[in-house]
Amino acid sequence: MDKNFQEEKFPGIIKFTPPLFKQRYQFIKDLVEKYKPKKVADLGCADCTLLRMLKSCSCIEVLAGLDSCASVMRENMHKLSPLPVDYLQPAERSLTVTLHHGSVAHKDPCMLGFDLVTCIELIEHLEESELKKFPEVVFGFMAPTIVVISTPNSEFNPLFPGVTVFRHPDHKFEWNREQFQNWALETARHYDYSVEFTGVGHPPTGMESVGFCTQIGMFFRKSPQASGFAQFEEPTEAAYKTVFKAEYPSLKDEKYLQNAVVDEVFCTAQIIKQRLLDSLKSEHEECNDNSTERKSKFQPSLNCSLDETGKLIVEKSMEPFVNENVVYIPLQTIFSFPKVNRLCGTFEKLCKLIAGKVTLSSDGSAVMFNTEQE
Ligand code: SAH
Repeated sequence: MDKNFQEEKFPGIIKFTPPLFKQRYQFIKDLVEKYKPKKVADLGCADCTLLRMLKSCSCIEVLAGLDSCASVMRENMHKLSPLPVDYLQPAERSLTVTLHHGSVAHKDPCMLGFDLVTCIELIEHLEESELKKFPEVVFGFMAPTIVVISTPNSEFNPLFPGVTVFRHPDHKFEWNREQFQNWALETARHYDYSVEFTGVGHPPTGMESVGFCTQIGMFFRKSPQASGFAQFEEPTEAAYKTVFKAEYPSLKDEKYLQNAVVDEVFCTAQIIKQRLLDSLKSEHEECNDNSTERKSKFQPSLNCSLDETGKLIVEKSMEPFVNENVVYIPLQTIFSFPKVNRLCGTFEKLCKLIAGKVTLSSDGSAVMFNTEQE
C-alpha cells in the first residue's frame, strides 16, 4: 500500500496519511525550499493555514494572501502576527505579511512583483466569468516567475463512495486530467510559460490508472519579463482591500540590529573578562606558591597599574588587560568574534552601533568593565 494512502477497516473509505490538504501544503513548502522565492502570494488563502506554514521559510520576505471571503481570513489571521520570541530574537531577513480582500478576477497593483503565486484548490470555486478572467490576471498581469495551481482530479472521484457530483458543494466544476491539462497548456502557451504536471494523493494499488487525487500544474515563466507586465500597462487602480498587515522585527531594521549588537558585545566582553580574570587569578596563586615572578599571559596582573604611556600602548593592542579595578577589552578583539563580526559587517559599523550604549576607554578603542561588574 502507498505510504500516503490508507484504506480503513471499513471498505471503500479512503483516508490519506498525512491528510491530503497537508500533502498539498507540504508540496508548496518543498517547492519554496527548492526555488527560494522572496515574494510569495497565496490566492484563495482561506484561513491562512498555508501562509502560516510559509512564514517559517527563511527565504521569504514578502508574504501575501488574497481571498474573496474576508470572514474566513479574519478567523485565524491573528496567528500571522509576530510572537514575543520574534521580538526577542529578530530574524536576519525582513518579513511583511499582508492579507487582501478581493477577487482573482480583478487586477490590483499590490500583487505585482511576486516570485511565486500559489492557487491551491481555488479554480474549481470560480464562477465561469471569473475563471475566464483568471489567466489574464494571474499570468498576464501578476506574471510571477512560478505559478502553482492545484485542483481535484475527477477521475479519482469514483474511489470516494459518498461523492456523487463534486467533492465539495461550492465546487463549480471538477476536471479530469485531460481537461485540466488542456486548459493549463493553452494558458501556458498564451502567456509564455512552460508547465509540468504532477499531483499528491496516490491512488491505491491496482487503481493507478486514475492518477493523483489532487492534480497540480507548475507553471514557469519562460521570459524574464512577461509581455503583459504592469509597467507597460496603464496604472491599475487598487481593487483589493487590505485587511491585515504585520511587519516582523528584523535585523535589517537598525533599531533591532543595534539591540542585538549591544547585547552580543556585552556577552562577548563578559566572556573575555571572565577568562582574563580566571587566568590572572590562577597565575597570581602560582606566583604566591612558587614565590617567583611570572608574567601574565595577558598583560599586567590585577593590582598592577601602568604609567600613561604604557596604558595607551596596551589599550591599542588586541589583548584585554586589567588596570586597577577596570578591565579593558579591545573592540578589535570583540569584533573578531564570529557573531559580532557577522552582525556588524565592518568595524566602523560596530563602533557606530554601540556608540553611547557601552562604556568605552578614553580613546574609544576598548570596552571598559569594572572587575566587580556583572
Ligand atoms: N487554498 C485553501 C482554500 C481553498 S477553498 C486551501 O487549500 O485550503 C477556496 C477558497 O477560494 C475559499 O476560501 C474561497 O473563499 C476563495 N475564493 C473563491 N472565489 C474566489 C475569488 N474569485 N477570488 C479569491 N478567492 C476566492
